[in-house]
Amino acid sequence: MAYIKINREKCKGCMLCISVCPKKQIKRDEALNKRGINPVIFLDSGCNGCTLCAVVCPDMAIEVYK
Ligand code: SF4
Ligand code: SF4
Repeated sequence: MAYIKINREKCKGCMLCISVCPKKQIKRDEALNKRGINPVIFLDSGCNGCTLCAVVCPDMAIEVYK
């Protein structure tokens, strides 16, 4: 099963990754990161490793593993 790692301190909460994920595997975290931003979290329930989230992230906060 593929999975991603999100660097929650790098994430600026733009939500672009949420909009492109075909499997709805990413959601907004209610908890703030150290910069006072709501980052995103990985749901880990069916990622297909497509890498779209990592490609679209402007801050390179996502790594994909297969
Ligand atoms: S690799 Fe693809 S399926 Fe997995 S979280 Fe990213 S966009 Fe979603
Ligand atoms: S695209 Fe990158 S910076 Fe934007 S919410 Fe997703 S992980 Fe955070």
